[in-house]
Amino acid sequence: MLLEPDLAGRFRRGLLFPDEAHLDPRQAMAALHDRLAAMGVEFHFGADVSAVSGFDRQIECTGMTAGDDRLRGVRGEMLILNTPDVSLSRPVRLLHPRFPLYTVPRTDHRFMVGATMIESQSVGPVTARSMMELLGAAYALHPAFGDAEIVETGVGVRPAFPDNLPRVETNGEIIAINGLYRHGFLLAPAMARQAADLVFSHRTKELAHETNGQRRNA
Ligand SMILES: Cc1cc2nc3c(=O)[nH]c(=O)nc-3n(C[C@H](O)[C@H](O)[C@H](O)COP(=O)(O)OP(=O)(O)OC[C@H]3O[C@@H](n4cnc5c(N)ncnc54)[C@H](O)[C@@H]3O)c2cc1C
Repeated sequence: MLLEPDLAGRFRRGLLFPDEAHLDPRQAMAALHDRLAAMGVEFHFGADVSAVSGFDRQIECTGMTAGDDRLRGVRGEMLILNTPDVSLSRPVRLLHPRFPLYTVPRTDHRFMVGATMIESQSVGPVTARSMMELLGAAYALHPAFGDAEIVETGVGVRPAFPDNLPRVETNGEIIAINGLYRHGFLLAPAMARQAADLVFSHRTKELAHETNGQRRNA
């Protein structure tokens, strides 16, 4: 059985990672929002976090704007292409001398092609060179991408520590999660678990302290 029939005869070899998953970040964010709102979590979009007070704990996850001078930005550019002439059922990665390039199928014949890795905090528009490299990768994967519509270009800056590893750190009542670099979606559940463990272990110690105090006073 051919795993990706549209790529039949185009490449001599490939590696299959059967457990590799992928998601559409926008759909994932909307679904997470709806789920949390249904659980009673309040969202205050556009709120000024510097004015936040009156909470036992704050979790700081503002990426590059956290003002942590250990962080650097790694610019990533991507394209969304639309073509009915290519069908893929999984992300396909291409070996490239500068970036690990990949094409991820989305719904409605759309394909995300990403992503560059440039040591820069600039959020300016996609550059001509990056556009050529991303389009070249898509075209090398399947020539029908040559006739695809470019329906979107996108730029983001990934927050990264010098070792490119994420950190969950505490500073008084603030828990800071940052440095998720290229893997924010992949690592979010593990980072959230670490932050939750910190919050609840702290709370357990507080409760034990309060209970001991009450016993002493009884
Ligand atoms: C092109 C591209 C492709 C990528 N592909 C993948 C991938 O395939 N898989 C993967 O796992 N990761 C991927 N990433 C990486 C992923 O996007 C990042 O790791 C992730 O976004 C980092 O999340 P973050 O929440 O720490 O920071 P950010 O995404 O930067 O989020 C910080 C948020 O804080 C908000 N904020 C800042 N200041 C304030 C303030 N004062 N008050 C309130 N809010 C504030 C910002 O508006 C922003 O929404 C990709 C990134 C790029 C650019």
